[in-house]
Amino acid sequence: MITEPVSPIATGLPVDSQKTRDEGPEFDFAHPEVAAREAELREAAAGLKAVCEKWSDPPSDKEGWERLRSDLEAVMPGFYARYDGYVTSVLRTGKTVPACTRGCSHCCSHYVESVEPYELLFLHGRLRGGPAYPSRVVAMHRRVALFGSLRRESDGELAEDRALYRYYLRNMPCPMLGADGACGAYASRPMSCRMFFSMSKPDLCKGRAVIDPANRNFLIELPEDIEADLARAGSALSGYGLSESLFAGLVEVNGAFGQFDAGT
Ligand code: SF4
Ligand code: SF4
Repeated sequence: MITEPVSPIATGLPVDSQKTRDEGPEFDFAHPEVAAREAELREAAAGLKAVCEKWSDPPSDKEGWERLRSDLEAVMPGFYARYDGYVTSVLRTGKTVPACTRGCSHCCSHYVESVEPYELLFLHGRLRGGPAYPSRVVAMHRRVALFGSLRRESDGELAEDRALYRYYLRNMPCPMLGADGACGAYASRPMSCRMFFSMSKPDLCKGRAVIDPANRNFLIELPEDIEADLARAGSALSGYGLSESLFAGLVEVNGAFGQFDAGT
């Protein structure tokens, strides 16, 4: 249960610019309020895991697809509420307030990774059918293709990090980002977006400034047992074969199950 100073969305910096700090901002994880929120999150994670284990075989028809969606709708909003409750309680114990505010969105130009399959299935369910959905799918395809080409151009041990950094410099905001700089999928955005903060001024999250040593991006990680339960929940859905990348994963859900949405 630590905070780690990281390059944005976990990776994305070239090797010679990796941060070398060993510790992130200090928070009091033993605070009673944090412990209470942690217990709530633990319970919610266990409930989510049970749903994922129930659906380890992907649905094969429209009815099954709708039941899966319904089960995820029953647990995911509560899970995210408890996730946010935990993160907020941790942040409140810090001496410094993060710089992040509504409308600040440089970090939404990253190629978001580490997204769990239950998050992709839930988010896709929330996005489908909306008027912006077709254009968002096209925009996600473009981003997947761009990242793929950048990944092929990069080689060596840190090829993935280099590709993520080069992608970020292209400044292609997430298709869910609204014109007002706020997330258009805020209530259903993945954990990767919910855990990422900065203690430095927002300008240091922008473009090449992100590798400035003064940049103070950090993640708030979860207690190990909760992380383990969430990993088991994700593993239960491994048969769906979904990418861990936000855009690639959503494109894959659309391709594999989109036919069940026809006519809805
Ligand atoms: S300060 Fe940085 S991490 Fe925080 S919302 Fe703004 S761009 Fe994102
Ligand atoms: S899902 Fe929302 S918070 Fe996450 S990158 Fe996209 S616009 Fe930003």
